[in-house]
Amino acid sequence: MAFDTVLVANRGEIALRVIRACRALGLRAVAVCSDADRGGAWLRAADDSVCIGPAPAGRSYLDAPALLLAAEATGSQAIHPGYGFLAENAAFAEEVERAGLTLIGPSSGVIRMMGDKIRAKEAMRAAGVPCVPGSDGALPAAAAACEAIAAEVGYPVIIKASGGGGGRGMRVVREPAQLAAAIATTREEAVRAFANPDLYVEKFLEHPRHVEIQVLCDHHGNALWLGERDCSVQRRHQKVIEEAPAPGIPAAEIAELGERCTAACRAIGYRGAGTFEFLYEDGVFAFIEMNTRIQVEHTVTEETTGLDIVREQIRVAQGGRLTLKQADVVRTGHAIECRINAEHGFTGQPSPGRLAYWHAPGGPGIRVDSHMVSGAEVPPHYDSLIAKIVASGTDRAECIARMKSALAELRVEGITVNADLHMFILEDAAFEAGGVTIHYLEERLRRRAEASPGTGS
Ligand code: ADP
Repeated sequence: MAFDTVLVANRGEIALRVIRACRALGLRAVAVCSDADRGGAWLRAADDSVCIGPAPAGRSYLDAPALLLAAEATGSQAIHPGYGFLAENAAFAEEVERAGLTLIGPSSGVIRMMGDKIRAKEAMRAAGVPCVPGSDGALPAAAAACEAIAAEVGYPVIIKASGGGGGRGMRVVREPAQLAAAIATTREEAVRAFANPDLYVEKFLEHPRHVEIQVLCDHHGNALWLGERDCSVQRRHQKVIEEAPAPGIPAAEIAELGERCTAACRAIGYRGAGTFEFLYEDGVFAFIEMNTRIQVEHTVTEETTGLDIVREQIRVAQGGRLTLKQADVVRTGHAIECRINAEHGFTGQPSPGRLAYWHAPGGPGIRVDSHMVSGAEVPPHYDSLIAKIVASGTDRAECIARMKSALAELRVEGITVNADLHMFILEDAAFEAGGVTIHYLEERLRRRAEASPGTGS
């Protein structure tokens, strides 16, 4: 568990974020890159760097043997996977463990269990975490039995692949007549994409919010919850804006949910940073999945708790104890994050290329996590997230005002970013009021397109 050198098996803003945390702890940080990322700013921030392969992620950031070789060659005893790529890959975690290295995250067994959504839900139900009503275990093969289960859950239902992820392997069914076909198609997709034919069924919630709980656990049985985040502003199942706390949800309800999450962490032997994702509808929380890694939006929790979650994640991987007690976790003020993507705001069309000029906003309450500098290349091969602007303040209104000012200050030349979409949302009355559902953004964009056809971008 003892280590002094960390291989950061990721790219972009999260690689830079992890490198900063390593250096703050006095650890050596080793960066990696693909051929397309040789000029990446995170490489300069690290103590050492290794090119691990060609541009396609499958041959670089997703190439487990290349990463293990890089760790060996640089004397790294630990690997931080960041988010995306191999961050929730149980087979990779196993290989890291077999190589005698420390994966900064939970054990491969826990990653495997949480990656299997049927097992994850069973474990959560057993630990007292409220779940979306649905089938117990995998759907049987017989159509009649499936029909009976769906009828009991109550239409509309959603068919989900146990191994699914990234918004894939799900299908909403509104009437019994559509059930058999939906099961067949989803099963086919599940086998092809996730090599796991198991499906389950859940009640489909029509107007939920997405609210999640951040946890942090050490190897000594200590588990903390660090508050909630509201990530309901989504498009194509991708989060666009996140905030903490979740507007209008009573603190006592969050505290009760947080306690259930930490009890579940103790029950499954969780360690490191993690997130329990819930849908929240009509005052009821329902677990959908757990992310066994650091998340993009951890920043808003950092800004409202004053904690450095990535540093703590590394410290507990070293075997360190959490020094805080739950009562010491104090949440103050508000924070909002806008994900700045290299894409056209309203159409979502990607805009990779050379960033001719970059000027990031600043001032009180503004944090920018980004690997961008003037002259940087934004390759077309990876996720389009190039910066996260986080505004914090005493209340939500102050955050919104600061964020609008920050977006106006942002200067980007050479490529296009989605700042216009963010400004549109921040100026919208429903967002301003707070508490929108996961369908809000797509519905709002549909209405905008209907109101003025042809103004797609
Ligand atoms: P993934 O791992 O693919 O992200 P999730 O289970 O987290 O899958 O679900 C992704 C998204 O799908 C959720 O954020 C939500 O928007 C929608 N969703 C999932 N389950 C339900 C449900 N039971 N009712 C309504 N929407 C759901």
